[in-house]
Amino acid sequence: MDETKGAAVVIVGGGVTGLSAAWWLARAGVEVLVLESGIVGWEASGRNGGGCTHYYSPLFQEEQRLWPQMDRLLGYPTEYRRFRVGVALNPGQMVRYDTVAGHAARLGFHSTRLDAKELRELAPPVSEAAVGGVFSHFGGHANPQRTVQAYAWAVQDLGGRILQNCAVTGIEVGGGRVRGVATTRGRFGCEALVVAAGPRTSALLAPLGIDVPLTPARAEMIVTAPLPAMALGGVDGNGLYGRQTLRGNLAYGGGPHEWLDPDGAWPPRRPTTPLLRNLARRLVELFPKAGHVRVLRSWAGVIENTPDGRPVIDRLAEPANLTVATMSSVGFGLSPASGKAVAQLVQDGRCHFADLSSLRLERFANLPRDWRERRGWVPPEPADGVAVG
Ligand SMILES: Cc1cc2nc3c(=O)[nH]c(=O)nc-3n(C[C@H](O)[C@H](O)[C@H](O)COP(=O)(O)OP(=O)(O)OC[C@H]3O[C@@H](n4cnc5c(N)ncnc54)[C@H](O)[C@@H]3O)c2cc1C
Repeated sequence: MDETKGAAVVIVGGGVTGLSAAWWLARAGVEVLVLESGIVGWEASGRNGGGCTHYYSPLFQEEQRLWPQMDRLLGYPTEYRRFRVGVALNPGQMVRYDTVAGHAARLGFHSTRLDAKELRELAPPVSEAAVGGVFSHFGGHANPQRTVQAYAWAVQDLGGRILQNCAVTGIEVGGGRVRGVATTRGRFGCEALVVAAGPRTSALLAPLGIDVPLTPARAEMIVTAPLPAMALGGVDGNGLYGRQTLRGNLAYGGGPHEWLDPDGAWPPRRPTTPLLRNLARRLVELFPKAGHVRVLRSWAGVIENTPDGRPVIDRLAEPANLTVATMSSVGFGLSPASGKAVAQLVQDGRCHFADLSSLRLERFANLPRDWRERRGWVPPEPADGVAVG
């Protein structure tokens, strides 16, 4: 065993959460090592919709404050673009956008109602059937691949280390503290450990008797050939989230998601359900002018879901030097703020800029054993003899 390979802080997981935490720690002069079982951003962090608008999170204010600065702070482009437009194809959808706007207004963030004409001036390919929309003067979106790369380069620029193709297989605890991790490439000692392993966080912590209740779900995205650029890249609607890329492609995802067996094989098997067709149909309903363009690419990613849909960001009482961060489907947009929060928990034991009490793990202490079944978060039955999940 080679203790010298370790670091003051070892971080398990090279997604946006682990990389952002590493970057904030490295900025503070802390020696960090990120251990990633695959390559950085290969999981949800590099496959998501790029949305950065989480008004219901205690990290929202910091998310909104940091994103416009991230390219400058990191020193690399994330392709962040400000603002969002929500498109209502019927009055019921308009009511939902108004509710969101009301909530954001209570937090000091402004929205403007758009009639159908104003909406189409901003987003010409939007359907003639749209009854109106909401322009959010907050929020935005970024390019997930670019952002992961920006974090990773910025970590390394500050002297942080990232070891890819290195899976953590066990966590060593002694005297109430984590002493190091066992990996496929040997042992790494540490003074503090951050586990930011997305949906795999539960499996890593279970041997320590720590229950992080998560259910993975498969979500899919499609990318079309380019359309003429809209004034704003962030146009949502019809149950879809996504963005128009700088090149003009529409990159969109949305429900339905497919629940996976949390104890099933990893990585999950290839999708076998017609989710893509569903996405393409709804995208054409939202943007009829996309009806003639080809779907160039599609992919699936696994979302990590806690029972209440909120992240767990918590430094545990025991082992006292262990911080857990799993983001429950909202981790991309929150990453500038979640990484900062994790870094402060590691360094000072508390977050200085937001009240994270609603994100503590202990809120799930009395969860019934069958919570997944009660919510219906169970994998679908195999159809036509084809196994799913
Ligand atoms: C299709 C889709 C669309 C989404 N859209 C949005 C959106 O618009 N906005 C938004 O905010 N969020 C969105 N999300 C959710 C968001 O992508 C995730 O919440 C976020 O990426 C989580 O980041 P993470 O770093 O915590 O986890 P991950 O990205 O899952 O990274 C965890 C990393 O840990 C590594 N790992 C796991 N086990 C080990 C181990 N034993 N040893 C070493 N490494 C390990 C994995 O390989 C992985 O790279 C979406 C997700 C998907 C799938």
